Amino acid sequence: MGNHRADRRGLRREPSESPTPAAGGRRKAERPARHSGSRGSLFRSLPSTPVLVGVAALAVSAGGAVTAAGTNLSAPEPARFSQASALSGASDVSQVSLVEARHAAISRDSRRDALADAADSQLVAQAEQQAEQHDAALAQLAQQAETQAKKIARNAWVLPLDSYHLTARFGEYSGLWSHYHTGLDFAAPTGTPIHAVAGGTVTSTGYDGSYGNKTVVTLDDGTELWYCHQNQFGVSVGDVVRSGDLIGYVGATGNVTGPHLHLEVRPGGGDPVDPYEALVHHGLQP
Ligand SMILES: [Zn+2]
Repeated sequence: MGNHRADRRGLRREPSESPTPAAGGRRKAERPARHSGSRGSLFRSLPSTPVLVGVAALAVSAGGAVTAAGTNLSAPEPARFSQASALSGASDVSQVSLVEARHAAISRDSRRDALADAADSQLVAQAEQQAEQHDAALAQLAQQAETQAKKIARNAWVLPLDSYHLTARFGEYSGLWSHYHTGLDFAAPTGTPIHAVAGGTVTSTGYDGSYGNKTVVTLDDGTELWYCHQNQFGVSVGDVVRSGDLIGYVGATGNVTGPHLHLEVRPGGGDPVDPYEALVHHGLQP
């Protein structure tokens, strides 16, 4: 029993003895000192950042309201009224004036920004337009190359020279010819490669009077294509050529005033037809 009471007293006394005024005061003083490095406790004692910003904003709002009211309102005691309303957040005339003043300021900034943006966007637009044009040009070149490749692949007709300018057309009259011009003239420097306009078999190569060095390629349907005034031959009789193949080089042999390819188209080996029309008929634009 005695032990039991002593124990109970002991149990009861121990917690009550520890927080004696002296001991408790030391401990309470020591705890913050030991944990002074803890940022949590230090920051908790200061206003948080949003609170500070909020106070600053409120101060600015009040100041702004006073200024706006002073310039916009002639009514007595506008400053105090508007300052109070700004602080209270109430909506009244002076608050509207504040909003208008702010809006005007923002509008000025917006106009300045808009001008700067306009200049920037103009430069950007120019750059974009140049890039688009560049891309378009590349795309066009790629498409042309692809088209040419496809035509060659399916043995479609192709233009005989990569670069030229047309001089004499079919049917024209000139002192150079005994009757009328029987072909289409592609002017180009001597030595310019001549490509087969269409696939076929080489049936003739040689010098032929006013035609100069002439190659005849006969197509499967019997149409003859004549390549005249060549400087040099690139194929021999019996050679089978596909459209686009090199068959010779531009020259000024025969009855000419300058180097060019004279192309003739003779269906069935008969009378010549207009090569220009024949090329257009085959999807080309000479
Ligand atoms: Zn000609």
